[in-house]
Amino acid sequence: MGRLDGKICVITGAAGGIGAETARLFKEEGATVVGVDLSEDGVGDLVLAADVTDASQVEGMYSRARNEFGRVDVLFNNAGISPDDDASVLETSLEAWQRVQDVNLKSVFLCCRHGIPHLLDGGGGSVINTASFVAVMGAATSQISYTASKGGVLALSRELGVEFARRGVRVNALCPGPVNTPLLQELFAKDPEQARRRLLHLPMGRFAEAREIAQGALFLASDDSSYVTASAFLVDGGLTSAYVTPE
Ligand code: NAD
Repeated sequence: MGRLDGKICVITGAAGGIGAETARLFKEEGATVVGVDLSEDGVGDLVLAADVTDASQVEGMYSRARNEFGRVDVLFNNAGISPDDDASVLETSLEAWQRVQDVNLKSVFLCCRHGIPHLLDGGGGSVINTASFVAVMGAATSQISYTASKGGVLALSRELGVEFARRGVRVNALCPGPVNTPLLQELFAKDPEQARRRLLHLPMGRFAEAREIAQGALFLASDDSSYVTASAFLVDGGLTSAYVTPE
């Protein structure tokens, strides 16, 4: 028996590292997955192309999921970007700031705005919004719009968790630590000093694997987390609790 048997789950960013891995895990656990990304290369039983910054496309993707499968139980609002031109507040252009806010924060508002009514129609469900460890701690290697957007995702999720608590909809912010992605590996192979600087702060001395973040999303999506809502759910290897770390 799977932990998500019979559940209809809509995952955004389903072609990326965390989203695709979560889609695979949810399917293994019995869910029917609707995988959404900018093009139709996401993982899912139904894959849809939609830009999550566009209100009508977001509304349309949930209608499509509902029409196809009759209900929607889980929203994993996970699409996000972290572009190079988002850096220190002294360098970041207004255009770069706004693009990151749109993809990382406005999208989560739109997905909740248009997705939660389907959950309410079905008697409840779980919403998981991907924030980040930078929602709760600062970094000297700043990406100011990214950090602000993830702080916004955390605050929004907390408030929605409270608002819908008596109507059967749980809302949590999933806050991953740094994940071992191909992009990160490439970057750190070129610049080992950058890798060393970051690994030093991680109590476990390693980045997360996408599967380990997906396992957190699985817990929040399933009824195993029936008393968990409005939380900042950290899957960060202890990063945000550390002062000094083991050598
Ligand atoms: P990724 O780049 O591998 O995947 C993100 C996916 O989102 C991509 O497939 C991309 O096409 C999609 N996407 C981007 N803009 C979109 C849009 N407008 N509409 C629809 N889809 C869009 O990144 P990832 O590492 O899997 O990150 C997933 C989430 O986790 C992001 O929100 C990210 O900020 C967050 N996160 C990542 C890390 C990390 O270290 N990788 C750490 C903390 C939080």
